[in-house]
Amino acid sequence: MPTNRRDVLKQLGTIGAAGLGSVGLTGTASAHVQDPYADRWIAADSSNYTNDNKSASEINWIIIHVTEGSYEGTVSWFQNPDSDVSTQYVIRNSDGHATQMVHNEDSAWHGGGQNYSFHSIGIEHEGFVGETNFTDALYQKSANIVSWACDTYGIPKQRPTGVAPCDARNGGGIIGHHQVPESDCNYNDHTDPGSTWDWDYFMDLVGGSNGGGNKFADGDRVTPTTNLNTREQPGTDQPIVATISPGEVGEIMNGPIDKGGYRWWGVHWLDRNVWGWSVERYLSYA
Ligand SMILES: [Zn+2]
Repeated sequence: MPTNRRDVLKQLGTIGAAGLGSVGLTGTASAHVQDPYADRWIAADSSNYTNDNKSASEINWIIIHVTEGSYEGTVSWFQNPDSDVSTQYVIRNSDGHATQMVHNEDSAWHGGGQNYSFHSIGIEHEGFVGETNFTDALYQKSANIVSWACDTYGIPKQRPTGVAPCDARNGGGIIGHHQVPESDCNYNDHTDPGSTWDWDYFMDLVGGSNGGGNKFADGDRVTPTTNLNTREQPGTDQPIVATISPGEVGEIMNGPIDKGGYRWWGVHWLDRNVWGWSVERYLSYA
């Protein structure tokens, strides 16, 4: 969640920047979707990932890692052609600052010998297994990215326990690196994210079920990031009340409600004096 005006402006600047790909859900394999939560983009070395340009339907898993090193050291390592490893994101523990290094549609190399690298998004969290106290800022940023990615790529917001399916095409969800199967379908020898990672707290943030992960609250002023339909009820099959343009301001009145793979907010669009439900992904703070 953007916690201050600077974050919001940075977010808008990212959306407006050329060459970072299109904003919003794409049904094709040709466009990179730019995540609204990453604070910067630093490309991993091209020899450390595969340029697969996948469609959303092929991305089934989020894999949670811990760096075993510093934030900047990890970012540097993924830029080093000798490393042969990468993840899509690296997140700093002190403040939740996030670097994206591989497009989500491409395959970062973090998922072991099975097909998990191809069918997943990897997130590195700065720290050491079993030792690090992960900060609220890190959990919140990671949860924002994960929640957004689940909505964007149709990944279930669930955490299967135990070892994950041998074939990554079966099922989907949010798992730790230690749950990724080896070629014999048993556990690998990684232990991250380890005992100090609070899965219950993290999954509450991802799902918003404890309220702490909600992007908006009643009374927040919002504006669309693109021409945005507002509807009589939550759901893309509901009648359109109006199409709101970027710059128009609304006030959050109700929600959120999860329906049809989207999170919906009831908004009073002030200039038009109309009420309707709009999709969270295309709303930012006004
Ligand atoms: Zn790992």
